[in-house]
Amino acid sequence: MLPAIVNLAANIQAAHKIVFLTGAGVSTHSGIPDYRSKSGLYAHHANPEYLLSHENLQDHPQDFYDFVQQQMYYPEAKPNLIHQEIAIICQNKGILITQNVDGLDQQAGNQHLIEFHGNLYDLYCQKCGQTIDYEQYQQDYHHPEDGGIIRPRIVLYGESIDPLVIQDSIAALTAADLVIIVGTSFRVYPFAQLLQYCSPTTAIFAINNEPITTSGIELLQMDALTAFTKLKEVLD
Ligand SMILES: [Zn+2]
Repeated sequence: MLPAIVNLAANIQAAHKIVFLTGAGVSTHSGIPDYRSKSGLYAHHANPEYLLSHENLQDHPQDFYDFVQQQMYYPEAKPNLIHQEIAIICQNKGILITQNVDGLDQQAGNQHLIEFHGNLYDLYCQKCGQTIDYEQYQQDYHHPEDGGIIRPRIVLYGESIDPLVIQDSIAALTAADLVIIVGTSFRVYPFAQLLQYCSPTTAIFAINNEPITTSGIELLQMDALTAFTKLKEVLD
């Protein structure tokens, strides 16, 4: 077994409060493309930041709808071993703060979850505020009752993170004695700024394919699924 994995497992066993910070690299193993990686979603679209913006939703709701339906929603996707292992650890002594909007951590049964950028399947009508289910949104983005435009409760470009979400995330990181970053290069703000709220004594690990430039992090530069498969062997 890799010494780095054994060391991380020992840190997990010794910790009292763990915070996981996860990104696209967790859900790529469930068949959801990483929309920020070179081979991911953004490479195929001229201006994805605009397509995923508040402005586009307001001015061109059909374009917005077409883009998210074709590129963001993977309703057949299922949680993988990483989602499941994180959910198990969180059940005992952890909180997960995820950048992912795919809902797979909820599907994995994680009840200690902060969806930092929202959830694609949390849909509502902008006109009346009514909650809409995904099956209805798949048919049409207009609310049949009032013609209002339906949208997912995710944070678009040009929108702010819910202050309560930030507050809860800061509280979790302030209390943590172990932080584990998984499947994100940690370049998205304000998500990447969360680490500044950790205590100086908090151990910070990262499992990611690509290097992370933030200092003070012990990096296991490897595939997240490989790492969690090995980690599960040690922890079980
Ligand atoms: Zn409505």
